[in-house]
Amino acid sequence: MNDIDHRVLGNKLDLFHQQEEGPGMVFWHPRGWELYRVLEDYIRARMRRAGFREIRTPQLLARSLWEKSGHWEKFGAAMYSFAAAERVPGEQGDAEQGRALCLKPMSCPCHVQVFNQRVRSYRELPVRYSEFGACHRDEPSGSLEGLKRTRAFVQDDAHVFCTEAHIEAEVGRFCSLLRAVYADLGFPSFKVALATRPAMRAGNDQTWDRAEEALANAARAAGLEFDILEGEGAFYGPKLEFHLTDSRERSWQCGTIQLDFVLPDRLDAEFVNERNERERPVMIHHAVLGSMERFIAMLLEHHEGWLPVWLAPEQVVVATISDANAAYAQEVMQALEDASIRALLDSRPERLEKKIVDAREKQVPIFVAVGSRDERGRTISIRLRDGQQSTLALAEGVGHLRLAVLSPLLRATP
Ligand SMILES: [Zn+2]
Repeated sequence: MNDIDHRVLGNKLDLFHQQEEGPGMVFWHPRGWELYRVLEDYIRARMRRAGFREIRTPQLLARSLWEKSGHWEKFGAAMYSFAAAERVPGEQGDAEQGRALCLKPMSCPCHVQVFNQRVRSYRELPVRYSEFGACHRDEPSGSLEGLKRTRAFVQDDAHVFCTEAHIEAEVGRFCSLLRAVYADLGFPSFKVALATRPAMRAGNDQTWDRAEEALANAARAAGLEFDILEGEGAFYGPKLEFHLTDSRERSWQCGTIQLDFVLPDRLDAEFVNERNERERPVMIHHAVLGSMERFIAMLLEHHEGWLPVWLAPEQVVVATISDANAAYAQEVMQALEDASIRALLDSRPERLEKKIVDAREKQVPIFVAVGSRDERGRTISIRLRDGQQSTLALAEGVGHLRLAVLSPLLRATP
């Protein structure tokens, strides 16, 4: 493993670990979980802005649902399934005995259940749901690779229920969202591919014609160029794939937009149309990052551990020059925390040079030294990663730092 492998960085930066007792699973440490939650909150806010409502659905469901949705047939081999626990006859709950249950490998059928909970009018469409869906897949042990391939992962999943007439606008909206998110995360360049009808498919040719055209038009309208992957679509609909190029010119498939004419049918989704008739909605599956875990692996490797400042688990190290400045350093820490800046105090009895080296080792992007001169003048000395240094009054310095660490979402005009 080279030193920019995310597993090496994960260990060096104390982000996460994996161990034999949890094969393909992740133990997130405080710094790693901080990063995870900052990324999650960012995506959450982006999705809300794009008109999605977040939901939460179960991880464990009856196998019968997966049989009905078709996933059992297609994904069964990768699904964790078991029988409900044996109980003493007569004990409460024994009706469940032996019932086949599965851990969800994806959230799609669950979103249809939420949609189906009441009669929907065409006036309500499009209905947009998002979820950070905790999924499990029984991947072969040989294919497991740190965070890149795990058995438990979280999909930033989203589904739109709409009519054919909505497809182009909905896909266009999502293409713009993807472009903005990837830029914020430091991936200005990506490739788009349109995967079209495979030989084995559901639905008639007219439906496929319209669906493929709608995807192509929406991508073009969003200013995206794309390649065609002939015959690579799923049997239930065509899709757009977004492949990010990282700093080492490797390509990672992350975002997807997929049209689906089959699942709403299998799971009886319907709405009442203008003519007061029951009609099947189109379902659009969306993901921006794909898997949170895998995306974090990619972020770490792409940035070689130097994450964009707004994502860094700790954005600032505040270091005392001597013990005499401990109280003032605390005051500085408080001011940073009040400004929602993630800061770490280094008050060890070490030389300042050593503290600078250690902060770099942990890849914390901003270093603030607090000495007696700072305390007397109520200033802070800021040192950026590129070596730039400045001494500013405390309030002014905190204001500068706040701007530097601000989430791109707060920076952008709404
Ligand atoms: Zn889905």
